Amino acid sequence: MYLISNREMLKKAQREGYAVPAFNVHNLETVQVVVETAAALRSPVILAGTPGTFTYAGTDYLVSICQEAAHLHDLPLALHLDHHEKLDDIRAKVTAGVRSVMIDGSHFAFEENIRTVAEVVRLCQRYDVSVEAELGRLGGQEDDLNVDSADSFFTDPAAAREFVQRTGIDSLAVAIGSAHGLYHGEPHLDFARLAEVRKAVDIPLVLHGASGIPEHMVREAIGLGICKVNVATDLKIAFADAVKSYFTEHPDANDPRKYITPGKQAMREVVEEKIRICGSEGKL
Ligand SMILES: [Zn+2]
Repeated sequence: MYLISNREMLKKAQREGYAVPAFNVHNLETVQVVVETAAALRSPVILAGTPGTFTYAGTDYLVSICQEAAHLHDLPLALHLDHHEKLDDIRAKVTAGVRSVMIDGSHFAFEENIRTVAEVVRLCQRYDVSVEAELGRLGGQEDDLNVDSADSFFTDPAAAREFVQRTGIDSLAVAIGSAHGLYHGEPHLDFARLAEVRKAVDIPLVLHGASGIPEHMVREAIGLGICKVNVATDLKIAFADAVKSYFTEHPDANDPRKYITPGKQAMREVVEEKIRICGSEGKL
């Protein structure tokens, strides 16, 4: 097994009415937890890395670890570029073996967003790489990406149709009220808008910022056409909290194999829960 694009994964999810979870990974341990859990539950899965993650871990290290995980578990695995912005950077990572890309031009005006995305689509088609893009703009913070709520705006259905037609993307990230990072209070998702976007375009839709959104809302969004659900913050919190409480109980601990293990277990429970919410168990 090797790294694949997410195109067929998401098409199947769209046909059968579930979503594929995409987990942001950072290192060997997060890859192990996500892939082991997905393999045990026979769930398709996407491993996502922001530019910051690729810089931190090293592209070749990350690609090699994910390839080995796919091989070890006989699992078709997508390693996905999350919120990448630069064509040269995307080209280098595609050349290194990545087959699933998000080009985030959501900070540009409409025409510039289209131009940027279409250029990436042209590159990626040559390598059979799937391309996701965002229309509208999510608020919140993820790595170096920090969008003030005043600068965020929702996806317009008519613009979405034109955007998809003119760029040739495989999947569309929608802005319907979710945000990156932590929510302050209950999030509000614009389901009516999501339904309109679903009617306007026929490709799989992607929900970013799903950490902290109540289960019933994620399920409703999947029912309205979301085929990929991104999870980053929930994994980080589970890992950090478990490691912190291990050190509280064992202040003299210094063996990473010991203090990381409860962190991995806590992440495993989150991955299981998200797979269940997405309805992707047994869908390999
Ligand atoms: Zn995102």
